[in-house]
Amino acid sequence: MPVMPAAQRIDVVSIFPDYLAPLGLSLIGKARQDGVLDIRVHDLRDFTHDRHRTVDDTPYGGGAGMVMKPQPWAEALDHVVSEAGPMTGPRPRLVVPGPGGIPFTQALAGELAREPWLAFACGRYEGIDERVYEHAREDLGLDVTVVSLGDYVLNGGEVAVLAIVEAVARLIPGVIGNAESLVEESHEDGLLEYPIYTKPRVWQGREVPAVLLSGDHAAIAAWRHEQRLARTAARRPDLLHPSLGGADAEVTTATPGDLPELLTLLLAAGQVATMDTLRADLATGRMWLARRSGRLVGAIRTQAAGDTLHVTAPALAPDVEDEELARHLLDVATGTALSDIRSLLLADPTASTARARTYKKAGYRPVPAGWSRQVPRHG
Ligand code: SAM
Repeated sequence: MPVMPAAQRIDVVSIFPDYLAPLGLSLIGKARQDGVLDIRVHDLRDFTHDRHRTVDDTPYGGGAGMVMKPQPWAEALDHVVSEAGPMTGPRPRLVVPGPGGIPFTQALAGELAREPWLAFACGRYEGIDERVYEHAREDLGLDVTVVSLGDYVLNGGEVAVLAIVEAVARLIPGVIGNAESLVEESHEDGLLEYPIYTKPRVWQGREVPAVLLSGDHAAIAAWRHEQRLARTAARRPDLLHPSLGGADAEVTTATPGDLPELLTLLLAAGQVATMDTLRADLATGRMWLARRSGRLVGAIRTQAAGDTLHVTAPALAPDVEDEELARHLLDVATGTALSDIRSLLLADPTASTARARTYKKAGYRPVPAGWSRQVPRHG
């Protein structure tokens, strides 16, 4: 039988290779056995040349703790890269866990899952000599991303690598049996998951919510969506209000129940839409609604196509001439875009002078189809 190349290769360099043993268990272990994942763990100390296999030394400039020496790291990374063959061959994307990195999110997990090859450098002590990052970027041509698991300090990068690899690997086709279970999970679309129940229907006098037994799929979907919004508002309001702009409107994502009101707003704002187009847009894209005292005063819709996010002009109620609100909607809609989006295309070629100023202030430049802005890449 022909051997299929693994869907993703992962190299991990650590002074504690045994710490990575869990990568042989459960679904990831099985994916490795099945050839879907090719995970190789390297001992940093194998790239030292002294009797004590030293990987650390005291910091220049003083201060507490030890710093990981550049030489073993450079040799280890050279070794990982050289395994692909000549220097012109494929290159891994290097992920270095660190509390000073960009936050690890579901969007970043999705981005990393699309890379054919990832390499992880697990720091210990106070971290790795800065020149190793330069060597990786400048001499090896690697895309280097420092990634933080959260705002706290661990002893080493290994726990972070276990978490990152698990979150990334489960997005790779063939790792998880039921791919549908990925779709409705927390963070997949910016909201937390709804409460879940299994048998028995009554347990210790506690009943499963009746709607889940109703067989009415629309009612169940509506209930779950409400639960997601309520849970997100209670536990992670930052996800519902990702922009810290000055606008005083409450901005939320649209639900099917919002569509009639949204249609009225869009038509009043001079935009082209019908209930059918809105239903289709809601199924494939995202919509953000701005309310003041419960009244719908603004809306914006986005749709991803490849690495471009298509954004509609912010629609405002006719009596609300508020460019700050337009800008706020724009920030919320584009600030929550998935991290694989590289450019934003705003469809408003005939923008009013005031609106054009808003777009320019937000960094957009006029193009024939409207307004365009590039999204800077992290890392
Ligand atoms: N001196 C470093 C600083 O203040 O940024 C902290 C070093 S920490 C004690 C040692 C190693 O643990 C780091 O090099 C990194 O690999 C890992 N680490 C610690 N906290 C982390 C976090 N929140 N996310 C990812 N990795 C972390």
